[in-house]
Amino acid sequence: MDWCKECGFEYDLSEARKAGQAIVGGVVEFAAILRARDVEVTTRPQPGTWSPLEYGCHLRDVLLVQRERVLLARRVVRPPFSPMGREERADHDGYAEQDPDDVARQLTDAAQMFAHVLSRLGREEWDRSVMYHYPQRAERSLQWVAVHTVHEVRHHLLDLRRQLV
Ligand SMILES: [Zn+2]
Repeated sequence: MDWCKECGFEYDLSEARKAGQAIVGGVVEFAAILRARDVEVTTRPQPGTWSPLEYGCHLRDVLLVQRERVLLARRVVRPPFSPMGREERADHDGYAEQDPDDVARQLTDAAQMFAHVLSRLGREEWDRSVMYHYPQRAERSLQWVAVHTVHEVRHHLLDLRRQLV
């Protein structure tokens, strides 16, 4: 995947070092939507589409999982990542029942925590490789992991904006 056909995001690995900043910036908008009192954040637009609250919980978990993955990649050579269990988590963690203000705060913290771990990568660490499972199983650098996580933020912001119109 060099670019996303749905949201138009391009995978430019030269942007990896700015990923933390981009993620924190994107999450500011995301959290503001969850805190807005004029938006119904707990309602699904259709039965099969997550509500803004559920997307917020998902993105928080993505950022926490990616943080652990980057930390693992610093101490293990080419670690395999197992899928995060996107759909299962929505049920196991009760995404729909969580408090939007709590999730907005947790999302903001998760973005800062992930950005901090990225900020501590040196020149050689950015090239460390991992076995990533999505969109297909492939060896990827931490640069790719960081850029892919920016895509997660941007893509889910689009999911949210679609619900606001
Ligand atoms: Zn996308």
